[in-house]
Amino acid sequence: MLERVYDTLIAILYYELPKDNYGKVVSYDRPITAWYIGQRDIKNNNLSVTLKGASSPLKDIGLGLQEFSHSVTFEINAGADNISITERLVQETTRLILASLRKHRRIWVVEYCPICAKFALSPEHFIQDHNDILATYVTGVVNDYNSLWAETHPANITPAELPNSAKATESFLRMYEDVRNNVAVANLPLTAKKNILKMQSDLVEPIRIMYDCVANTSTPSDDATGQALFRNGTITLELKELIKQDSYGPDNVPITAIKK
Ligand SMILES: [Zn+2]
Repeated sequence: MLERVYDTLIAILYYELPKDNYGKVVSYDRPITAWYIGQRDIKNNNLSVTLKGASSPLKDIGLGLQEFSHSVTFEINAGADNISITERLVQETTRLILASLRKHRRIWVVEYCPICAKFALSPEHFIQDHNDILATYVTGVVNDYNSLWAETHPANITPAELPNSAKATESFLRMYEDVRNNVAVANLPLTAKKNILKMQSDLVEPIRIMYDCVANTSTPSDDATGQALFRNGTITLELKELIKQDSYGPDNVPITAIKK
């Protein structure tokens, strides 16, 4: 569930943090040689980051809406040649990661593109790279938005411009539903159609948004004794996510559904 959130967070950090000539993120010229997903016993790196310890309680927030409160922990592990350097390294790496995370109060989490298999960090990818498929949907989205605007505003106030990411999200989701409902989508390759149908049978949410993201706890060092030259820093990132709840039961289970 948080797998793609982890991938997104690592990709954002990788993009924003300073890198060396080999493409590794560096802190005080020491490369972060591993970005682990999930805690492990042995980390054979001088400097690594582990995303772990997540929890995601879910609650009802209104009719048709539920909200996740995700919590993700970043653990920064450093082991250098002496205690001072280890301590400085863990402090600096925690600072760098925190400096990057603080800017992201809202984060798009986008699945692998079913059309070209790229891992994009913004839904804008869909209208930039697949305009031939989505252009007509974008026109429809903008027209619908403008007519909604006209219903609630005087004619002399022109509609505010929709951000590209919003246009892309709504357009992609309309196309996604057309595939589900077997409506022909112009220019959509057969493989992409099959990928979308597979995503739907796997109950994938193709575009998600995390909001109210805040790194509300950070411990730049654990002041450890008794573990030689090894120090840990931790950052806890809280993220909220709204999801649709469009079916309540108990009669949403067909009588033809049987126990296998
Ligand atoms: Zn794509």
